[in-house]
Amino acid sequence: MGRTKTIVPRTSTDRMLFLLMVVGIPFAVLWLGFVILPHYHDSVNSVVVMHIVSASFILYNIFHNMFLVIRTDASGRTSYLPSVLKPGWRYCAICQVNYPPRSYHCHVCEECILKRDHHCKFTGCCIGYHNHRYFLVGVWYIFIGALYGICYQWEYVQSTINLHGIYFFLSLLAPHFALLFGAISLWGVLVATLHTLALATLFMTGYLLVLQLWAILRGQTQYEMKHNIHDYNLSVKQNIIDVLGRRWKIAWLSPIISSPLKGDGINFRKANEYEPPKDI
Ligand SMILES: [Zn+2]
Ligand SMILES: [Zn+2]
Repeated sequence: MGRTKTIVPRTSTDRMLFLLMVVGIPFAVLWLGFVILPHYHDSVNSVVVMHIVSASFILYNIFHNMFLVIRTDASGRTSYLPSVLKPGWRYCAICQVNYPPRSYHCHVCEECILKRDHHCKFTGCCIGYHNHRYFLVGVWYIFIGALYGICYQWEYVQSTINLHGIYFFLSLLAPHFALLFGAISLWGVLVATLHTLALATLFMTGYLLVLQLWAILRGQTQYEMKHNIHDYNLSVKQNIIDVLGRRWKIAWLSPIISSPLKGDGINFRKANEYEPPKDI
């Protein structure tokens, strides 16, 4: 209790993945800005400015959201938790506190998390009721950033590797073999490796987004999805509001947009008690 939340993750695996993210993403932006962009443009023009503004917007959203994922207290430490065990609640013997439904203890974070979704190894902390919005939007912008980078450098990658059909895709998958056979240069190996990493990021975040949206739209956490629990599925709109907050239509544009959550992370309406509002 009362532990100060630090930015640096606690386990070595989490620290490695965190480092990969905080170094890898700025490196990708520098690569696009100082290697790819000068290949297409000789001077600064309106198209260059548009790319700089778009990339800055995506980069800002990734890091501010991820910062808030880490800094937001997802545990129930600051909430009022009763000393009497209510129906549906459970006692956590490690935290020695009664916790509400949907809360679970994380053995990495060493605390119980309100409406626990999962432990994110890239930020080294748990995703729960209070920081779910920042996680979802942060992953969305990583996905968009990877897609942006892949499309933007596509022409450069094709002209550098200069192979066609199956040989082009094989050189992306195993550039060192292509180098051994003299099909591509050492620079080509670097270009192919970075492009493959960007593709891997795109598929990984795309898969994560599908899993997240599949659960969120049905009012579930990842745990509830795995265990087929549908108790909190109110309506698609209410389920989105429960994650993104009251201003869900614009909350994804920037983490500085205030979008308060309707609940407290402790009390949840159940689907069988819910009556859809006539007007929100
Ligand atoms: Zn606990
Ligand atoms: Zn955790």
